[in-house]
Amino acid sequence: MKHTLEVMISEQEINQALDTMAEQINRDYAGVDSLLVVGLLKGSVIVMSDLVRRLDGNVQMDFMTASSYGSSTESSGDVKIVMDLAQSIKGRHVLLVEDIIDTGRTLSKVLALLNSREPASLAIASFLDKPTRRVVDVDVKYTGVAIPDEFVVGYGLDYAESYRQLPYIAKVVPSDGE
Ligand code: 5GP
Ligand code: MG
Ligand code: MG
Repeated sequence: MKHTLEVMISEQEINQALDTMAEQINRDYAGVDSLLVVGLLKGSVIVMSDLVRRLDGNVQMDFMTASSYGSSTESSGDVKIVMDLAQSIKGRHVLLVEDIIDTGRTLSKVLALLNSREPASLAIASFLDKPTRRVVDVDVKYTGVAIPDEFVVGYGLDYAESYRQLPYIAKVVPSDGE
């Protein structure tokens, strides 16, 4: 599809939202001896690296890949773990980091799986949130920016695997010629 990009959230706005998220997280985990930050690949890679550099204390990182089959722009809820965590999370304080929560299907499945492994605590930080799109109720404790129902790219988010590297978040606008 022919398209253009329209900046929706600038790099400066992203940094402000990250500062606020990190402040809340640092306050909430101040008494905890170690925090395991888990990123969902690939989308969370950029926000994860920016967020952990703002966190205090003993922070560890791990990653998992959950694949959600469906159309290119909407997840189906049929979520498969393509790559699992490298370590046990039993008794650990876990913070799950996502790029965006849309219907909530992906996060609710991943959350149920991780909860079954008996972490000491499990909370979600999602940089973007499309609240009007929610199908499954998920408790997202830390959110960066709430956005309207638009397909966005950049800052980790892709369109057919492109644009993840953009330092800002942009709206994909279809243009003439299809
Ligand atoms: P959910 O399961 O909450 O519907 O979908 C979450 C996943 O769908 C995100 O992790 C992301 O991969 C994808 N997604 C949802 N909305 C957008 C969007 O606006 N842009 C992009 N690039 N991906 C999105
Ligand atoms: Mg994602
Ligand atoms: Mg994607």
